[in-house]
Amino acid sequence: MTSWQERVSLKPYNTFGIDVKARYFTQAHDDAQVRQALAEAIERQVRVLVIGGGSNLLLTGDIDALVLHMASRGRRVLQDDGDRVVVEAEAGEPWHPFVQWSLTQGFCGLENLSLIPGTVGAAPMQNVGAYGVEIKDVFAGLTALDRETGELRDFALEECAFAYRDSLFKRNPGRWLILRVRFALSRTLHAHLDYGPVRQRLLEQGVHAPTAMAISEAICSIRREKLPDPAELGNAGSFFKNPVVTAALAEQIRERFPGVVAYPQADGQVKLAAGWLIEQAGWKGYRDGDAGVHRLQSLVLVNYGRASGAQVHDLARRIQADIYERFGVELEMEPNLY
Ligand code: FAD
Ligand code: NAP
Repeated sequence: MTSWQERVSLKPYNTFGIDVKARYFTQAHDDAQVRQALAEAIERQVRVLVIGGGSNLLLTGDIDALVLHMASRGRRVLQDDGDRVVVEAEAGEPWHPFVQWSLTQGFCGLENLSLIPGTVGAAPMQNVGAYGVEIKDVFAGLTALDRETGELRDFALEECAFAYRDSLFKRNPGRWLILRVRFALSRTLHAHLDYGPVRQRLLEQGVHAPTAMAISEAICSIRREKLPDPAELGNAGSFFKNPVVTAALAEQIRERFPGVVAYPQADGQVKLAAGWLIEQAGWKGYRDGDAGVHRLQSLVLVNYGRASGAQVHDLARRIQADIYERFGVELEMEPNLY
């Protein structure tokens, strides 16, 4: 038997700091505990919600399920060809310490993904990305448990259907429980500095030939300035995906709003900065009770203390409706709603 607690507050387990209760709660430190918890849930006819760091969740009410918190730890070098290195980490490993560990080993590849909250196991869910790098760029495979059959399956890159903040795993919620993830890293740095203010920040710091560690530190410093720390102000990072629209719609918007921030995509479509649209619409810094839009970063919705998930969700829907009315653009929410 794994030990199940009853009526547990999930406030410490979601970075929005939403105070809802899980009907049951347990932690899994290894594969055996995962299997045991799932088997017991089937026996007791209870649904299971798997969580990691809770940094991409919006909990809109009490969770009538077993919340299974992934607490497995471990990271290892699987293969070392001199330059190319394959490392593996357990699902419950906190993401940023794992990135730092890889950098201190001299392995490059994860530096642009520094300071993203959450766990290794959740990173493939939305193909986490920042500053021009996504995990698909360094992905070497993962092992997941198929909750429908109870079998283990290894996934290669081409089987994961990774896309912008999306994957096979996100599209099939609850089917695959990710146990461990592998990354192909390199002792040679292939720097990605062209995104946002990264290069500029390094130059300001007097760094002209950056190491992976220096890039990581620059990105951490930018992120600390721009993003609210969930320990101080509840949030789940970007609340909306940047919408990718047709070139024709982007052009119509540009005619009316010449300052629109837009990035042409390889397939001819155009990615618009959702934060810019929200800011233009006047939502930046907006607050309704304890739910609000961050004063520095309009893509981030925040909980000033006692907001409910429903209040944050309601604010998000009002923003979506307003952006659609003003620009004809549909904003998709990024966090997973429960
Ligand atoms: P959780 O929130 O616990 O879970 C997210 C989803 O994954 C849920 O559906 C859950 O059921 C599922 N899940 C969790 N673990 C597993 C598992 N082992 N197997 C199967 N399913 C699982 N995201 C980015 O992409 N880029 C960023 O730059 C970024 N910056 C952020 C900054 C801040 C301040 C915050 C608060 C969030 C940010 N995020 C960012 C979002 C978030 O940190 C990532 O999506 C992260 O990977 C979520 O990990 P988690 O462990 O917290 O997942
Ligand atoms: P930013 O640098 O102010 O840029 C605003 C937006 O423009 C970003 O969302 C980014 O899109 C896009 N962008 C910037 N330069 C680009 C380029 N050269 N080519 C294509 N698109 C470009 O963004 P920010 O809010 O401070 O975030 C910095 C990075 O961290 C971004 O990559 C962002 O996605 C990531 N981040 C993600 C979350 C999350 O929860 N998902 C939270 C915080 C930060 P992209 O989002 O597509 O990269």
